[in-house]
Amino acid sequence: MTTVTLHDLRKEFDDVVAVNGIDLEIVDGEFLVIVGPSGCGKSTTLRLLAGLEDATGGEIVMDGRDVTAVEPKDRNVAMVFQNYALYPHMTGRRNITFGMKSSGDFTDEAIDRRVGEAAETLDIADLLDRKPQAMSGGERQRVALGRAIVRDPDAFLMDEPLSNLDAKLRIQMRAELAQLHTSLGTTTVYVTHDQTEAMTLGERVVVMNDGRIMQVDEPQTLYDFPANRFVAEFIGDPAMNMLPVDIENGTAVHDAFAIPLPNADGGLRNGANGDGDVPIRDGRRAVLGVRPEDLYLATERPDASGETLAATVDVTEPLGDSLLLHCSIGESPCKIQAKPRSDIRPGDTVSIAYDPARLHCFDPESG
Ligand code: ADP
Repeated sequence: MTTVTLHDLRKEFDDVVAVNGIDLEIVDGEFLVIVGPSGCGKSTTLRLLAGLEDATGGEIVMDGRDVTAVEPKDRNVAMVFQNYALYPHMTGRRNITFGMKSSGDFTDEAIDRRVGEAAETLDIADLLDRKPQAMSGGERQRVALGRAIVRDPDAFLMDEPLSNLDAKLRIQMRAELAQLHTSLGTTTVYVTHDQTEAMTLGERVVVMNDGRIMQVDEPQTLYDFPANRFVAEFIGDPAMNMLPVDIENGTAVHDAFAIPLPNADGGLRNGANGDGDVPIRDGRRAVLGVRPEDLYLATERPDASGETLAATVDVTEPLGDSLLLHCSIGESPCKIQAKPRSDIRPGDTVSIAYDPARLHCFDPESG
């Protein structure tokens, strides 16, 4: 049982504020992913949790115990790193058992039993007598995971563990990690810059930017109700379109269209609770957000009623399962994910249908 609470956690490196006041409750047994662009403070947050960095402010509480100043070895957490961090001169078995042996806390029988269990769980029995240079990247990462799980830690802390693997192996290991979590049920904090990895692995996902938390939610909620412009553009591929508008008399006015907003404060899908971080009011500049997959060629949706937007097609990109149209609506670039094999050419003018319930509205500066 391990619940981890961060209170106003801060870390400064000279004049760089890497972690800028984070409050977070990590629930016992959950798989929590921290995602964000390079340099946003993800690794530093994880290293603070592990005790590999000293906080410059705030506190870390594990199961009610303040561990902010506790040595890494006394936190009972296991780190898994991107570069595996295996000892090159030791076999897989020695790498896995080294920490347990040197702690002096385990009998030889207990060590053998745990290695046997880990080897079975991770299917690595045939790697135990090999040295890392005789293993593939995926095999090395399995051994590194083995070293983490034999310690039966209160929490796993994983820092981009799959990013040195090729794309196919990464997808396979992603599924294996999810399965491992289901069987062990250990609290896991997983850092990645890859939003697909975050969305597929995380039971909850923390989106960070500039040392701060932008939003914490379940993946589908992040996708459906991004709290601000940053989250909206970071989550989803291709990225959400952002069309600059002015709010006038409850209407979003663009240079090429005007869309009435559903209620007085423009309460589109602009936030986890539908109310966003900044209300969009008359006289303000805003951005209208809409995902490429929420825009349709009107000809593909003859049953769709309501307004359409005129767009000019600049480039077409066949993706196999869809046709990505890079268009212009007035002066604004806008991507549309159309059905595959549509007979659309660059230079065509198309009529775009949308579902008003899938439009978002953000403060242009939010996030
Ligand atoms: P991320 O993991 O999101 O890529 P990091 O947590 O590694 O980001 O880094 C956050 C910020 O802190 C960056 O600006 C980075 O350059 C800085 N930083 C990280 N570690 C150190 C360090 N040991 N010394 C100085 N600056 C650091």
